Amino acid sequence: MKTDYLIVGSGLSALVFGALMANSGKTVQILEAHEHPGGFGHTFTMAKKYRFNAQFHYVWDCGEGHTVNRVLKKLGLDRDVTFERYDPNGFDHMKMPGYSLEIPSESAELTRRLSALFPEDGDRISQFVNEVEKTAAGLKKLAPPIKPAELLKHFSEVFCAIQYLNSTLQDVFDKFKLPQAAQTLLALQWPDFLLPPNQLSFYAWIALFRGYQEGAFYPTKHFEYVINSLVKVIESHGGKVLLNHEVTNFRVTDRTVTGVEAMDLTTHQTHEFTGDTVICNLDPKKAAKMIGEELFSKTVRRKLNYEYSASNYMAYCVVKDIDLRDYGFGKWNTFHSGHQDLNQAFAQMYEQNDFSNPSFAITTPTLLTEAGRDCPDDCQIVEFLTVANYSYFKQLWDSDRKAYRKKKQEILDAILDVVEKHYVPNFRKHMVFHITGSPTTNERFCRCPNGNSYGSSLTPRNMGVDRLNHETSLNNFYFCNASSGYPGFAPTFWTGALLYQRLSGDGILG
Ligand SMILES: Cc1cc2nc3c(=O)[nH]c(=O)nc-3n(C[C@H](O)[C@H](O)[C@H](O)COP(=O)(O)OP(=O)(O)OC[C@H]3O[C@@H](n4cnc5c(N)ncnc54)[C@H](O)[C@@H]3O)c2cc1C
Repeated sequence: MKTDYLIVGSGLSALVFGALMANSGKTVQILEAHEHPGGFGHTFTMAKKYRFNAQFHYVWDCGEGHTVNRVLKKLGLDRDVTFERYDPNGFDHMKMPGYSLEIPSESAELTRRLSALFPEDGDRISQFVNEVEKTAAGLKKLAPPIKPAELLKHFSEVFCAIQYLNSTLQDVFDKFKLPQAAQTLLALQWPDFLLPPNQLSFYAWIALFRGYQEGAFYPTKHFEYVINSLVKVIESHGGKVLLNHEVTNFRVTDRTVTGVEAMDLTTHQTHEFTGDTVICNLDPKKAAKMIGEELFSKTVRRKLNYEYSASNYMAYCVVKDIDLRDYGFGKWNTFHSGHQDLNQAFAQMYEQNDFSNPSFAITTPTLLTEAGRDCPDDCQIVEFLTVANYSYFKQLWDSDRKAYRKKKQEILDAILDVVEKHYVPNFRKHMVFHITGSPTTNERFCRCPNGNSYGSSLTPRNMGVDRLNHETSLNNFYFCNASSGYPGFAPTFWTGALLYQRLSGDGILG
């Protein structure tokens, strides 16, 4: 078969790109090493009755006219692949000693709630929230495809955004002199970045925080349905998604990528695949090493010099004969910190591997949609997410599996102690299943180097002008993943759609 687009990896940006190309009449073939499609977005089944999405929790940009909706419309999926909105009055519930804050969609309401908690700092809070809005508006104009006339028209917002190019969230907290507890409440969704305020790019924080304010969503039929629907579009147009096929080598002649070698992991046989254009969804840095970094231009090599994002710890749990809605859970996430200072909390967990006072996210997917359940009727799924250090877990995994399992259990116990103390007194009594994932689990199942969670780390340096994009400097070869676009469900939709737009000329992003 002649393949127009040979795609390595079936992460979300690759599936979006592949589905759009297949839908436009191109032949598409995807090679995926894992047994499931979707990369970080794959779904797995345990004990034959519990289904967990590996990493996705909640997503943005799914409303009418936004990126995800535009792509789904183009594919004729928008009526079938629908989303449930989180509670706009409080989509993230932030809890820390002495304080709690429900983050609302309306910025004026956010200012009101924060000012009620910190009455002496009302002006500063209001100025900070206004600056966030203005910067967000400027960033929208600066996102590709850039329209120069729009930049001029919105000069004030664009100028406001540009001044924060090198800023961390902490820099901006400091500029507006926000009280420590207000900073913590605003930055408590740090697991969405796996970076604390003093390392996190202000741009990255704004994109996500404002994105969720405009609408936080969960797919009506779960994330697996979104992934399967994209695969179906590719297959129904004659394309192929070959699972259990690990690409081991790229074929390159005269700086032109012509195909790959891939091992069928079920037979251990190696096959060659060719394509007019090769799209790389696997980590760009890893792909460049496989190809030979010296073949890439100096500019691309500089852009490939990013640090990986931190990795994470996940606990996938099932509780039975209890309704978590009776304990303060619902159509929102809960973020907890035992520390007042998130920079310290992060360092304690990430650098010292000390989880005695953990900060973490709690999500409850079963409470977010009525359609189809991922577990039996008398059960509910609860997931806990926090940061974890790859080198530490890798060394445990390689040297002492018992110690590795013990550390995973120790983290779960620390989290469950907090849950029983502050949220659900008899949580353990109701827990009928749990499985935990570490950085090495990420690496094993999602093939992400160093178990990285979000591709390149979301620091100002990596989010700046030297950020990698689809261009590889090799012929017929393009990057298409979180590190060459942006991480997250909506951002990887955008990454795949933007590459489609650039290669096809079909302006679906406007
Ligand atoms: C813990 C965690 C929580 C998250 N929560 C959210 C959330 O709530 N909301 C949100 O919007 N985003 C979330 N994300 C981010 C989001 O999951 C990712 O940014 C996004 O899914 C990345 O997609 P991608 O296209 O870059 O591909 P990836 O998901 O990185 O997929 C790459 C694919 O390439 C395959 N591959 C790699 N090497 C090879 C090879 N040699 N041969 C063949 N195939 C190969 C891999 O198996 C994988 O399937 C979360 C991520 C993590 C880790």
